[in-house]
Amino acid sequence: MSSDRYGLLIDYEFCTGCHACEVACKKELNLVVGQWGLKVYQDGPRKLENGKWEYNFLPVPTSLCNLCADRVKEGRKPTCVHHCQAGVIEYGTLQELSKKMNEKPKTVMYSK
Ligand code: SF4
Ligand code: SF4
Repeated sequence: MSSDRYGLLIDYEFCTGCHACEVACKKELNLVVGQWGLKVYQDGPRKLENGKWEYNFLPVPTSLCNLCADRVKEGRKPTCVHHCQAGVIEYGTLQELSKKMNEKPKTVMYSK
């Protein structure tokens, strides 16, 4: 895997489903109604065999995501990263992100 490829690491254990990333992304990409660069999906609530409830929110970049190329060129973080108060989304090289991914569960990685 080349070290100069970039992506997003999404630590959805702490995603509250606030949609701030979704709205910020849509604004950044200047998308029309019905188009999204990132969508936050809800999973559950669902009762598990151990009696606990599972409830997840997961932000998923779409094919329109360009990893905030204009912002990154200016040395800024992608707007979804910037607007997430919970620190759920991280931007970096795939190598860096996969190391972090190895450290905890409930993470997904997105690459272009
Ligand atoms: S990733 Fe962050 S900004 Fe997006 S819905 Fe989850 S908590 Fe909100
Ligand atoms: S990196 Fe930019 S374009 Fe991609 S999902 Fe995040 S805000 Fe949207």
